Amino acid sequence: MNQQNILVLNCGSSSLKFAVIEPQNQRVLMSGLAQRLNSSNASIEYVAASETQSHTITPQNTNHEGAIESVLSILKQHQLLEQISAVGHRVVHGGESYCESLLLTSDNIASLAQLHHLAPLHNPVNLLGISAIQSLLPQLPQVAVFDTAFHQSLPEAAYLYGVPLELYQEHGVRRYGFHGTSFRYVSQKAAQLIDKPINEANFLIAHLGNGCSACAIKEGKSVDTSMGLTPLEGLMMGTRSGDVDPGLVDFLCQRLDLQVSDVMDTLNKKSGLLGISGISNDMREIQQAAQAGDIRANLAVELFAFKIARYLGALAVSLPSIDALIFTGGIGENDRLTRSLVLEHLAILGFKLDGTLNQNNGDDAGKISASDSTLAMVVATDEELMIALDTQSLVAKA
Ligand code: ADP
Repeated sequence: MNQQNILVLNCGSSSLKFAVIEPQNQRVLMSGLAQRLNSSNASIEYVAASETQSHTITPQNTNHEGAIESVLSILKQHQLLEQISAVGHRVVHGGESYCESLLLTSDNIASLAQLHHLAPLHNPVNLLGISAIQSLLPQLPQVAVFDTAFHQSLPEAAYLYGVPLELYQEHGVRRYGFHGTSFRYVSQKAAQLIDKPINEANFLIAHLGNGCSACAIKEGKSVDTSMGLTPLEGLMMGTRSGDVDPGLVDFLCQRLDLQVSDVMDTLNKKSGLLGISGISNDMREIQQAAQAGDIRANLAVELFAFKIARYLGALAVSLPSIDALIFTGGIGENDRLTRSLVLEHLAILGFKLDGTLNQNNGDDAGKISASDSTLAMVVATDEELMIALDTQSLVAKA
């Protein structure tokens, strides 16, 4: 029996994603999602041995700790609990303190709380998961894998904003970047696919999911990225606006008699694909509506692609050459039209699509570009696997 499986936990504000991964052969033994936490209809759906099952959380116990207790009882039921050797957590913000994943101790867990102000919606709930495991399975080592860590290699020119330097020095106002775990996984995978050592590979990557960001990777390291101090900056996303003129905030407060928090709510939750289409934040629904002739859905698709291309063009200035442009995330891996529009806009960088390869979401090596084009690829991301591999390797070194 394998005793070396890793439990991966990703605590969101009202959800908990989990997976049990066997790192040696990169197999997912179970994956699931607890939803509507802290409400009376909290529930868990999970997949084990290719079967989807659901589990109701007792109404008295629907907070994060309660959900983790339920997850552990599900693992027990499937004889997986005794095989867990360590727990890896997604932690959104590592600030400037962490440029790689961290084996947790009671001391450094306490110091993680000092980063709460940088991601008040995310880090405190990420820490709830860590504390729950500390009390429920105190013998298990735990590892934190930060979304920001991979971008700590950004040079000053990329991470500083043109605002008074004291705001950086005294308050940490800078570009941090997110989706780092995905960019790290995808860049390593792409380097294998093109048979180049990762520390010689130069990539542009567009991670297009509900949240979207892009990254320039030079010799295996992140040198620029589109998300900033918060995950609101950069590309247009499912419900987030991405870049807007910062003057918009005051303009809307004055014009519509709003509070700053109302405007932030609009920029975070009512903008992006949802705000432009007026239909949905989900690209599949937007594509359906666009095909049926909906003008706003079409506009959303076009804006989305143009903004990706514009950002990729800007990120390219940080690279000496481009080994490949890589699409990843739910939209990047599946949405043929978005990829084709982006490459059309990027003809200046030598990109030409191969329509058949694009239709197939890439050949065996992920390639979607024509033979006389700069290479463009589709590479599926796997943040859970990256977290499991980091966890295994830090625990093995301890
Ligand atoms: P998250 O950021 O929550 O992990 P995902 O990476 O799963 O999100 O991406 C979700 C997005 O991917 C949604 O907009 C969804 O519509 C889109 N998507 C998933 N499958 C397809 C598909 N076959 N065609 C187009 N878009 C897709």
